[in-house]
Amino acid sequence: MSYLVLARKWRPNTFSNVVGQEHVLKALINGLDQGRLHHAFLFSGTRGVGKTTLARIFAKSLNCEQGVSSTPCGECQSCLEVDSGRFVDLIEVDAASRTKVDDTRELLDNVQYAPSRGRYKVYLIDEVHMLSTSSFNALLKTLEEPPPHVKFLFATTDPQKLPVTILSRCLQFNLRRLDIGQISGHLTTILKSEDIGFEPDALSAIAKAADGSMRDALSLLDQAISHGSGTVKSAKIHDMLGNISQQQLYQLIEALISCNGDAVIQQSQDLSVQGRDFVQVLNDLLSLFQRIATLQLVPDLNTTELEDADTLVSFSQQLSPELTQLFYQIALHGKRDLPYAADPKSGFEMTLLRMMHFQPADVTHHIETPSFPTPKSKPTEKKTAAKVNSKNKPAESTPTIEPPPTKPTVKVELAPEKAVESTTSASITTDNWLNLINSLKLTALARQLADNSAFVDFKDNNVTLAIAPELAHLASKKPQERLETGLSKSLGQTIKISFVDADTYQSSPTLATERAEHAVADQERAKASIHNDPTVDAIKSAFDARVIESTIKPIK
Ligand SMILES: [Zn+2]
Repeated sequence: MSYLVLARKWRPNTFSNVVGQEHVLKALINGLDQGRLHHAFLFSGTRGVGKTTLARIFAKSLNCEQGVSSTPCGECQSCLEVDSGRFVDLIEVDAASRTKVDDTRELLDNVQYAPSRGRYKVYLIDEVHMLSTSSFNALLKTLEEPPPHVKFLFATTDPQKLPVTILSRCLQFNLRRLDIGQISGHLTTILKSEDIGFEPDALSAIAKAADGSMRDALSLLDQAISHGSGTVKSAKIHDMLGNISQQQLYQLIEALISCNGDAVIQQSQDLSVQGRDFVQVLNDLLSLFQRIATLQLVPDLNTTELEDADTLVSFSQQLSPELTQLFYQIALHGKRDLPYAADPKSGFEMTLLRMMHFQPADVTHHIETPSFPTPKSKPTEKKTAAKVNSKNKPAESTPTIEPPPTKPTVKVELAPEKAVESTTSASITTDNWLNLINSLKLTALARQLADNSAFVDFKDNNVTLAIAPELAHLASKKPQERLETGLSKSLGQTIKISFVDADTYQSSPTLATERAEHAVADQERAKASIHNDPTVDAIKSAFDARVIESTIKPIK
C-alpha cells in the first residue's frame, strides 16, 4: 500500500469527514445550506491543516449537479472531477510563485468570465500575503465588486502582512493546528478500517512528530506502514523518527533523580548507538519537564487523560519544583548550545552532567534522601553554618541558587571561624574581654556601649574601659548600669566600670573594630570562594550568567 493510495483514499471529501476546524465548517455549512454565502474567505493557519481540502469540498458543494448544499452527492461529474483534482472551475494559485501584478491581472481578467463547467468559480489563493502591492490593488478592485459567480478562498500563514482593505472584505477564520488527540484519533480510524495492526504509543509518536499537520501525519503513517511491513509498531516509529521512546526518557529522568552518573552516560551511549537525534531528545526532555512542572504547580489538574499519569505524578513528587525549573532551563540552554559542542553526543552529555552537578542547597529533592554526605567536620558540637552540598565540595562554602534560575544570584555561606566560648571565668582579661561581652544579654544602648569599649584593666571588682572621645556619649548612666549588671551576673561578683579616653590609654581592640575587620576578611574569603567554585563556573556557562558581586554574603 503506497502513501498516495492511503492519503488519497482518506482525504476528506465531505465536510463531515474533516477532522477539527469545527468553527470554520459551521460557517461554511450554514452559509451553503441557507444560500447566504460570503464571497471571500480568509483562512490563516500553518501548512497541512486542511486549507486545500476545505476549498475542494467547498467547490464541490457549490457545483454539485444535484444543487448547492453542504452535502454534495460525490457521484456526479462535477463532484468526481473536483475529487480527482481536474475541475476547471477550481483555480488553485500559489501566490508565493505568482507575485507579479501581470500574473494577478491575467488571473483576475478571467474572473469576469462565467464558469466553464459549474455554477461558481472558486479561487484558492495560497500564501496570499506574498502578493505585491499592485497585485493587491488589482485584487481589491475585484473584491469591491465581485462577479456573482466567483468565490475566493485566501490562505495565509501570515495574515498580519495583508492590507486592511483586503482583510476588511473577507470573512476570516483561523485554522487551528490539529492536536495530538485529533490526529491519533484519525489515524486510529484509518488503521482500523484498513485492518492494519498498530500500537497506540506509535500513533501518539506520529501525531507529535506531525506537529499539527494531518498531511504530515498521513505521510508519516504511510512510511511507518512500509517500514513495519504492514503493522505500525512503536519501536519502528521511534527508529524512523530518530525519536527516544517514552520508556527511555523515563529511565533517563530516573538516572538524573538518583544522580546515577553511570546510568546517565550509558543511556547517552545507547541513544547515540541507536542514531537518535539529540535535539529531538532534548525537546522530549523539555516537554517532559514542562508536564512535570504543570503537575507540581497545578495540583488540581485532572490527570485522567494524561499519558503515563502515574509515572509523571511520581516524578513530580521526587523533584522539587525549583529543580524541575532548573532542569528545564538547562535542557533549553543545552539545546541552544548543541551546535557549538564538539559533537551532538558530547553536548548532550554535558547537558545531563550539568543537571546532575546541580544539587544546590536550596534546591533539594522533596523525598528525604539521606545520601548527602555530611561535611568533613570534626566530631565536636561546633555547628557549621555552611549548608552541605551533595558533592564533595569543601564544607566551607556553598552557593545557593535563587529561582528564577535564568539569572542566578549567588550567596555564600561560611562556617563561623570560632565558636564562642562561654565565659564563666571570674576574671576579665584582654584575652577574654571580647568573648565575654559578646556573650552578655544587653539592651541596644548597653550593647552599643559594650561593643565600642576596649578593655584596659581589671582590679578589685573595678573594670577600666577605654572609649573613643567621639563615642563617649554612649557611656551615659543607664547603659553603663546595664553593662555593669550584665558583667556582674556573668562573673558572679559586683562589677563597677570606669571609663577613660581611648586616645590616651593603650587598650585592646573593641568588638566593633574586631567585627569590622572580620567582616572585610569574611567578605574577601566569600568572594574568593565564589570565584573559585566550579559549580558557579558551571552555572555561569550554562546560563550565560554573571555573579552579582553585591549579592555575595558571608554566612553569619
Ligand atoms: Zn455531485
